[in-house]
Amino acid sequence: MWRYQEAIPINDQENIITFQEGFSPLLPLNFWGQKVWMKQEHLFPTGSYKDRGASVLVSKVKELGLKEVVEDSSGNAGCAIAAYCARAGIECQIFVPHDTSPPKVAQIEAYGARVHRISGSREDTAQAVLEAAEKIYYASHSWNPFFFQGTKTMAFELCEQLGWQSPDVVILPVGNGTLLLGSFLGFKDLRQAGLINKIPRLLGIQAAACAPLYWAWQKNSAVEPSLPKQETLAEGIAIANPIRGRQILQAIKETAGDILIVEEEEIKEALIYVAHRGFYIEPTAAATIAGLRKYLLNSASYQTIVSVFSGHGLKATEKIIKILADLH
Ligand SMILES: *Cc1c(COP(=O)(O)O)cnc(C)c1O
Repeated sequence: MWRYQEAIPINDQENIITFQEGFSPLLPLNFWGQKVWMKQEHLFPTGSYKDRGASVLVSKVKELGLKEVVEDSSGNAGCAIAAYCARAGIECQIFVPHDTSPPKVAQIEAYGARVHRISGSREDTAQAVLEAAEKIYYASHSWNPFFFQGTKTMAFELCEQLGWQSPDVVILPVGNGTLLLGSFLGFKDLRQAGLINKIPRLLGIQAAACAPLYWAWQKNSAVEPSLPKQETLAEGIAIANPIRGRQILQAIKETAGDILIVEEEEIKEALIYVAHRGFYIEPTAAATIAGLRKYLLNSASYQTIVSVFSGHGLKATEKIIKILADLH
């Protein structure tokens, strides 16, 4: 992804923290009888596209001369920040909800980060880290703008992979919007540089069990943080109070996009459908594919449609064992 260095706000090349990540394959697939371009964002060093954001953010931390960071995450962002800090020799503390998938917590700890397990909700974890962030730099994937300067590179790549053409629709997961808002920034950069002439429609997918953006979009109102939240397999996008909610809704509106929701059964079916074609993705990533399926049912086939596999199946072995057991 650092091939786009001129468009990434790191001043000195010496500060770049990288595993030579990025330029993930964009495969043409036939899903439910239609052609879809699938960006393989699960094939990153830590198993999710969060590495794009972590690479830029941790490079910035190094450029600022800082030695320690804190971050809170339901899993994958914590893994990515911990890995890039390990690579940079920066101390790292990650706050996670107590019910985070054990493999994700193991991965964070293995990179040498200090893990704080916080009881209560995802929002209690966010509160705990804010207190720590009064003294230590907050390398947040949802607040820190440098993270989005990394995730925007996905838009650069997929336009380059399509021969500097902009797709018609991009179907993405949305919780805090790191990929959706990052992509929006990337497409805007490309349009401003005259490399593409249109920004694609951005379609955000949420799990019905936790869908504050969907409801705000439906009602054309602000995000309601107090909506009841149920358990969902899509833990990575179960964000009850998205801090950039207003920005996300604005991006959807500006691109004439939409927000769709998917049920738990649809997430399981999508995971199995994809796996039977040789792709192993985690349930959060399968939620996006369930949304893609919904979209394809009423879309025109001449469009260029792009979607993503956002996280690797090896992240969620326990959940996948349960899904398989239910099948039998
Ligand atoms: C982080 C993540 C998402 C989406 O994240 P938001 O930033 O909350 O919109 C989707 N899938 C996976 C696997 C993730 O790790």
